[in-house]
Amino acid sequence: MSMTTEQRTFDSLDPATGAVVGTHPVQDARAVRAAVAEAERAAEWWGGLGWAERRRRLLDYKAVVTRDIARIVGTVHRETGKPKADATLEAILAITHLDWAARNARKVLGARRVSPGMVGANLAATLEYLPLGVVGVIGPWNYPVFTPMGSIAYALAAGNAVVFKPSELTPGTGVLLAELFAEAVPEQPVFRTVTGLGETGAALAGDPGVKKIAFTGSTATAKRVMAACAQNLTPMVAECGGKDALIVDADADVAAAADAALWGAMSNSGQTCVGVERVYVVDAVYDAFMRELTGRAREVRAGEDYGPVTMPAQLDVIRRHIDDAVASGKAVLGGPESVRAPYVDPVIVEDVPEDSPAVREETFGPTLTIKRVADAEEALEKANATAYGLAGTIFSGDRRRAVELARRMRSGMTAINSVISFASVPALPFGGLGDSGFGRIHGADGLREFARPKAVSRQRFALPGMNLTSFTRTQAELDRVVKLVTFLHGRRKQ
Ligand code: NDP
Repeated sequence: MSMTTEQRTFDSLDPATGAVVGTHPVQDARAVRAAVAEAERAAEWWGGLGWAERRRRLLDYKAVVTRDIARIVGTVHRETGKPKADATLEAILAITHLDWAARNARKVLGARRVSPGMVGANLAATLEYLPLGVVGVIGPWNYPVFTPMGSIAYALAAGNAVVFKPSELTPGTGVLLAELFAEAVPEQPVFRTVTGLGETGAALAGDPGVKKIAFTGSTATAKRVMAACAQNLTPMVAECGGKDALIVDADADVAAAADAALWGAMSNSGQTCVGVERVYVVDAVYDAFMRELTGRAREVRAGEDYGPVTMPAQLDVIRRHIDDAVASGKAVLGGPESVRAPYVDPVIVEDVPEDSPAVREETFGPTLTIKRVADAEEALEKANATAYGLAGTIFSGDRRRAVELARRMRSGMTAINSVISFASVPALPFGGLGDSGFGRIHGADGLREFARPKAVSRQRFALPGMNLTSFTRTQAELDRVVKLVTFLHGRRKQ
């Protein structure tokens, strides 16, 4: 990345070749303020369009994105280095989320009557979820379409305007997504992109016109963003990566488990927040699993099956983790020599101590640590012994045990006998706990994340002799209500 202060622009680079892909303005706090102010007006208009019209516009946007998928794929491919097939896959997933958010917003967020209860029998109670106004989205570079769209689509469907700050590594993708939106919704800048470096994101997080921040990135940066949000008590949703584990149980299909572990760990060069980084294999199938895994892994090549490491600084983290893991454990495939910048070939190390960086810290590279365990209980205990809590995978032939293990896995999402499958189901909420962050995107929870509940109670008629919210109330009225409450709630239910 190069930057000239005079013009206040920066370049995005092709990580495979170093060639300049595009040049973009570094938008400062003033530019961000202006964008947010315009978005505030656009939010009024968009919020006023109503459910049916917003749905129509969002489905139009979906159609534009789908028709222009080749342009999106080309930009993502150049900016991240990932193969076009992978860029296509993430664009398709983003389209399915856009579709779900558009079609389900009214059902999830629209006004509904709720029961007023016996004591409130004279009331009509309604609940609806109103837009927040302007939502700021701060996005990552690893899935520059799918990940931010998980916030953008849901925030727009909930009736908000969006100001999006893409990662400085993938600004062209961010600009393109907003440009395509303007084709479907030309009247107002309901969704716009601001480009720049970290300070541009910081300006967005600290802008008083922004009513919620949706952040994806590292835990350390999430803390800084949260501090900026604190100035205006701006709420945020934080998706901060993980150290996800895959468990192989005694009766698992080991070939399928090995295939999933390999793809979950190495695809996208390991730069996946819900990628597989650790594998715990039950003793009974350990050797069979390792045979399957190493046989398959030898066929996988960086630069062919997956792209380069997108962020050059990450190579230092990956190298440090590999060096340490190989010194303390046993290299099964690859090693320090696998790092040949900007590519990293698959690295698999077994028996790495549980307190090593490669087991505790997010590597974000095409590496796997494998550990033999006595049984699924030990596997779960070790899988859960992490500060992160994003997702995980279980391979088991026993459906009941797999579901039970999944429920007890300390993570926001778990896939059974498949890898990352939850991300393709728009109705499932996506997010983590602990150092992986908080809040949810996707699904009904993702829609509610970008809305505020509005509760209204309307008195339909006065309840004679039971008016307690008045200085004119009498002891007799109070006694009657106590009697009613005792009748309703005073008995022990069997
Ligand atoms: P960061 O957390 O630094 O960046 C994420 C986003 O936040 C980018 O858009 C970035 O902009 C922006 N940003 C940076 N500083 C600030 C700030 N002070 N205020 C507001 N926004 C800011 O992640 P990196 O891209 O540097 O990657 C570092 C590590 O984060 C990776 O190694 C990986 O472990 C993890 N990560 C996790 C992801 C996930 O999917 N959960 C995705 C990406 C990274 P800019 O790019 O312009 O600096």
